[in-house]
Amino acid sequence: MSVTKKFDVCIIGAGVAGGVLAAYLGKNGLNVAVIEKSLAEQERIIGELLQPGGVIKLQEMGLEAVLEGFDAQPVEGYGLFMNDGNFKISYPTANGKLLTGRGFRNGKFLQRIREYILNLPNVTVFEGSATELVEANGRVTGVKYIAKKDDDERIVEASLTLVSDGMFSIFREGLSKNVKKVSSYFLGMVLKNCDLPYKNFGHVIVAKPSPCLVYPISTTETRILIDFPSPEAPRKSPELLDYLNNTIAPQMPPQILPSFKAAVEEGKFKVMPNHLIPATPIFKPGAALIGDSLNMRHPLTGGGMTAAFTDIKNLGDKLINIYPFKNVAVIDDTVKEFYQSRHKQNATINILADALYGVMKNEDLKVACYGYMQRGGLYANEPVSILSANTRDVDLLLKHFFAVAFFGIGNIIKPFPTPSKIGRSYRMLKSAVNIVSPLVMNENPSVTTRTVFKIAGFVF
Ligand SMILES: Cc1cc2nc3c(=O)[nH]c(=O)nc-3n(C[C@H](O)[C@H](O)[C@H](O)COP(=O)(O)OP(=O)(O)OC[C@H]3O[C@@H](n4cnc5c(N)ncnc54)[C@H](O)[C@@H]3O)c2cc1C
Repeated sequence: MSVTKKFDVCIIGAGVAGGVLAAYLGKNGLNVAVIEKSLAEQERIIGELLQPGGVIKLQEMGLEAVLEGFDAQPVEGYGLFMNDGNFKISYPTANGKLLTGRGFRNGKFLQRIREYILNLPNVTVFEGSATELVEANGRVTGVKYIAKKDDDERIVEASLTLVSDGMFSIFREGLSKNVKKVSSYFLGMVLKNCDLPYKNFGHVIVAKPSPCLVYPISTTETRILIDFPSPEAPRKSPELLDYLNNTIAPQMPPQILPSFKAAVEEGKFKVMPNHLIPATPIFKPGAALIGDSLNMRHPLTGGGMTAAFTDIKNLGDKLINIYPFKNVAVIDDTVKEFYQSRHKQNATINILADALYGVMKNEDLKVACYGYMQRGGLYANEPVSILSANTRDVDLLLKHFFAVAFFGIGNIIKPFPTPSKIGRSYRMLKSAVNIVSPLVMNENPSVTTRTVFKIAGFVF
């Protein structure tokens, strides 16, 4: 078996996370190997709206060039639609300039990142499927893979192996506790020549029974994602067409409806599972997880790539700091530090994603959330600043989360409380606590926050 020695880092998977990680480390002088199953352009409906916080992370890493040259669309904020009403909220500003996200085809973005790393002299990309982590004396020393061009089994040796093989990771099991849950499915379609009600905005349609997302992905294309809160993936069938035409279509804003109907008629559906995977890594010398193989949240808030880029900047800076690597103990300490420190930066992204999805499934909380943000000012701007990943303050997030619940209670008991209204309010508050508690606990909270939520757990 041929052995290629020896890289500083070997990355499994040149997806959004692995690709950007290779770019950041390679640009900063590390010798990087990347093993990627297929370098061909993929058509997947993942990672298509990058929040401003993710754009900022790319800028901080000096990688903003990867956002150019493939028709990515600036996204300036969100429009919210419920029943016949709607309103929009812009992203925050910094130094007087509006922060913007980007909408794009994931496959096109990925090819741009790959083109970037293929041009870096100290990044070597091997096309093939990684099959096994190679170990010596309890330490991961490299990766076994089957080369695509000739089906030969080969080994790449590296001081550190970074696993970023995505949501269906085959290496996660040995490197984390691997607790995963499918929260729902997204059915995606491309809407052609759709004139969005708010140009260059993401659109959240607070539909029944579940939300839909709409955002631009190129000059002429708009993505729609329709949530299916079912245990089974939706399949193309007369029932599905009936559901799209008679349950979802009537809730579409009139400007979107014609292109929605045309897309249903065309029938090019793509379906993806939406996972919740809290980060529960098991430290293994010589290896670490990053990207979706480490941590996933509901894609409703489009936070996945931003969380990954935040981790890459965090771990990347630490590795660049200790480079050239002198001994493996320092590398291992760096990985441990990364695992410990990452919650602080990504907790708001993770909590918000699944908390908002939980809110959308509870009729009273959903109405309260829409009404709360419709008031504008700080009620809208601070939550959207958290959504954009510009603000990463967990306490602020929890303040708004519970303020939504109390706003809803205020609306329910108006003009005066009755026993049934009090009962309904109690149930709403209990749901709010039950939605957010486990999500907070996943994020390594402070002792005070942990205690407060434990007490809330006893009360409700
Ligand atoms: C429906 C849906 C919508 C989403 N929408 C958004 C959004 O709008 N905004 C956002 O920020 N995030 C979104 N996300 C999340 C986002 O897509 C992910 O967080 C992001 O793609 C993670 O990147 P990754 O590199 O970890 O995984 P991936 O992008 O899946 O990349 C994994 C890579 O590893 C390769 N690979 C796998 N196994 C092997 C192997 N054995 N050997 C070699 N290579 C291998 C694959 O070919 C692939 O290239 C969404 C997710 C879903 C499911």
